[in-house]
Formats: sequence, C-alpha cells, structure tokens
Amino acid sequence: SEDTKALFIIFGATGDLAHRKLYPAIYRLYKKGMLSESFAVIGTARRDWSDEHYQEVVLDSIEDLIDSKEHAESFAKHFRYQSHNVKDSEHYHTLKELADTLDEEYAIEGNRIFYLSMSPSFFGTITHHLREQSLVTENGFNRVIIEKPFGTDFDSSKALNDEINDSFDEDQLYRIDHYLGKEMVQNLLAMRFSNRLIENSWNKDSISNIQITLSEDLGVEERGEYYDKSGALRDMVQNHMLQVVSLLTMKKPASFTTNNVRKEKLAILKALKDPKVTQDDKTEFVRGQYAPSEDGKTKGYRQEEKVDPDTLTETFVAGKLTIDTDEWRDVPVYIRTGKRLSEKTSRVDIVFRSTESDLFSDQPTLLSVLISPDEGIELTLNNKKIGPGMHLEPTQLSNLRSEDTVKDSPEAYEKLILDVLNGDETHFAHWGEVATSWKYVDQIRKEWDNMTESIPFYPALTMGPKEADVLLEQQNHKWIFKG
Ligand code: NAD
Repeated sequence: SEDTKALFIIFGATGDLAHRKLYPAIYRLYKKGMLSESFAVIGTARRDWSDEHYQEVVLDSIEDLIDSKEHAESFAKHFRYQSHNVKDSEHYHTLKELADTLDEEYAIEGNRIFYLSMSPSFFGTITHHLREQSLVTENGFNRVIIEKPFGTDFDSSKALNDEINDSFDEDQLYRIDHYLGKEMVQNLLAMRFSNRLIENSWNKDSISNIQITLSEDLGVEERGEYYDKSGALRDMVQNHMLQVVSLLTMKKPASFTTNNVRKEKLAILKALKDPKVTQDDKTEFVRGQYAPSEDGKTKGYRQEEKVDPDTLTETFVAGKLTIDTDEWRDVPVYIRTGKRLSEKTSRVDIVFRSTESDLFSDQPTLLSVLISPDEGIELTLNNKKIGPGMHLEPTQLSNLRSEDTVKDSPEAYEKLILDVLNGDETHFAHWGEVATSWKYVDQIRKEWDNMTESIPFYPALTMGPKEADVLLEQQNHKWIFKG
C-alpha cells in the first residue's frame, strides 16, 4: 500500500541491537511483502564503512532467515551506509543529501523513519539536528523510534522528553517497549475482552491475586557497566512490568484505538498506590542481588566484569502493587523480575478465589498466560477424582503454541516496526505512561538508595531471596511459579 513507502535512517547502525533485531525485523517484513519496494535504509554510525561492507553485515544478520539468496541480495541493495558523528552538525548535510537522493531513487515521497538505536544521551542532539538541518520532510510523514532507557528517573526523562519535543511532537514519537510487541502480551486484551467467561470473572470478587514473573537465567553478560548503574527496577519494572500490569487491569477501552487504549492504561498507572518500602517485613518491595551459585560454578553479580565489587545494585525485584480503585484495591498484583534466576520465563498467573461453599475443599482455579519462551494459556480447574466419593483433583487445560507456530509468529520488533510504518501508536508507550511509571518507581529507588548497609542476596540460579516469599506469605499467598 501507499503508506509503507519509507526511508529508514538508523542511528547506531553498527550496534548490537541493529544487528540482532532491526535488520532481521526489516527483512522479515520484506519477505512477507509488507514493505514495498519503495524503501531504503541509511545506516549511520561513527565507523568508516563502505556500502558494500554494510550490505555484507546486513546479509550476515539475516543469514538464518534467508530462503532465496537472490531475494536477500536485492533486499540488501536497499541499504546504504553513511559514516556520521551525531555531534557534528556538518555531517547532517551529507546525510540530508543522501536521504534526498534515495528518496528520489526509490520514489519514497518524503516518508521518513528515524530510528535512534543509540545511547539516549544523544537523542536530544540528534532530533535537534534533524529538524535544524532539514532532514524532516514536508511532503511525507516523519516518525522517530526511540529505544530504551527513556531516562533514569522522572526528572531525566522529562528533560529528555522536553528536548525531543522541541523538534518532534508526541504523535511522531514511537517509544519502544518490546514487550508491547509480543504476541502473548497483545493477546491479554484479546483474551480479556472477547471471552465472556473471562471478562465476567475479571474482578475482585473472583480474583484473589495476580502474579507477573519476568525471570532471566542469564546474568549481566557484557552489559555490566550499564546494568550496574541501572538495576532491575529501572531496567524492567518502570517499563515492561508496569506496562503488563496496566494491560491486565485496565478497563475495557471504548474501542481499540490508540487514544482509548492509552487512556485506560494511564488510568491504572495513575491509580497505583504509593509503595511502602521499609527494611522490615512490612515492606511492599524487596530487592536482591545474585551471589555465586550453591555449586560454586556460576559467579555472583559482584564478580561480573565491569561491576563494582561492593555494588548494592539490585539484580532482582519483587513487589506488591495496589491499584487504589474500588475495583482492584483488594487484589494484590505481585511482580517479580531478576537475573540469574532458575529459569527464563515471562508469564502471568491469575489466581482465582476458592468457592465460598462448604461443599468442597477446592483449590483456587488458576489461569496462566505464558508469554515467552513458551507461548500459550493454561487453565487449572478442580475435577472430580474418578472413583467413590466426591473428592477433587486438579486438571489442567493447556493450550501451548507449538515450536513451529512460535517460530513462524512475527517477532516483537517486526510487529512494532510495521506499526510505525502504518502510523499505529497503540503498542508504544505514551509520555504520560512513561512519566507516571517513573514517578512510581522513583519512590522505591529513593528508599533503596538510602539503604546503604547491605542488600539481600540469593544464590545464582534460584528464584530470588527469601524476602520475596515472605512478601506473599504475609497475605497468605504464594508464588505459583516455582522455577
Ligand atoms: P551499541 O553500543 O552496540 O551500539 C551503539 C551505536 O551507536 C554504535 O553503532 C556506535 O557506533 C554508535 N555511536 C556511538 N556514539 C556515536 C556518535 N557520537 N556518533 C555516531 N554514532 C555513535 O548499543 P546497542 O546495544 O545497539 O543499543 C542501542 C540502543 O538500544 C541503546 O539505547 C540501548 O539502550 C537500546 N537497547 C539495546 C538492547 C540490546 O539488546 N542491545 C535492548 C534494549 C534496548
């Protein structure tokens, strides 16, 4: 269609994200015919690469996806490289000339997507120059994709946003939260609002508590320098986890438009009750840091490269959130995320209340939504045990997507880039959501920054510190996913 014509300008084209995610995502769209032939990509970064070398790099990044070598090569021909230091204003002239040339060559008609896949400290500079040096076109759309982290707290994110807003309006900005591009995350709204059985039970009368687990088995790998300044709270809770919380608890939107969905999500984030963060068992948020594993084979966080050996940075967070509305006040939402946990999984467990009659000693019904790496839904119900009497046993209805189905499903970046091409902002975080999330998270950060004595440790490859279990036990709840 007309509007898929676009010139992508990728800042940070030699980086890890571009290689691992962006080129494969653009190729998948090309393979599926979702990108018209009227597209071109300019990759920019400091290194001095030729177009030929860049095209080799692009081909290398899509190696596993290639069915036809010829088709892949015609894809790679759409890529050009421009060595560029984003701080040097002269370079934007060269970039503009190349952009205008490609626009003509591929009949792109002015549509531009600027992908900022670089350190956020450059976002302000880049967007300023794009506007000042007229890389922004008059005849087509101009959209900016922004990677995380969007600031490190409310103040810095506000400063960053103000800087970007000097050159681009909110409706031109696409803040990536790749969780929002995941099939099973998008499925949450479909599942909630298309099944009367579920919709009618999605309330405080039926639900006892909600649990969200985003666990990683890996440690910090090569990202020690970044991570030690960030920690799990900023890296995972402010964005991915609070986004999932809002999708799980938002009211039914009046329609599936960007504005209506965003409005309901924001209402949840605004309703979050201030978290209580203390050093005793009254706390609603606990942190942890991985120590060496019990068998001594996996090192602890403090032994990782580029990590301060005395660091108090948290690699684990668990929390109890209260959505302070009549609808949800009595339903705790527990979240848990961390590195070097026993298993890699992203999942949601909805724990329903037991029946109120004396007929049975029933176990709570449980609905689990598996986000990744397994994708699917599991519903655990009570069932009569075969044989005499009226005894119960749990039975599980399980619908896991097959490996092939998962493999063939569009990947998050692929879906999100397509959304940008189509001008659909529904699955991107609005500034209001980002700001409100930071304000919530900042309160926890502030308390933890004052706790300078120590941090609870957990052995690598376990499900976190015991404090995370105590958090639920106090409400007579327990984590469903045991790792
Ligand atoms: P990276 O360090 O691998 O790449 C950074 C890129 O920026 C390189 O191409 C480098 O040449 C370029 N660059 C740096 N300074 C420059 C300058 N002055 N002028 C021109 N180019 C310059 O980083 P990455 O891992 O690709 O991440 C890019 C962005 O995506 C970051 O904001 C990061 O936080 C975010 N992100 C990355 C991942 C990931 O998995 N890698 C995941 C989520 C978010």
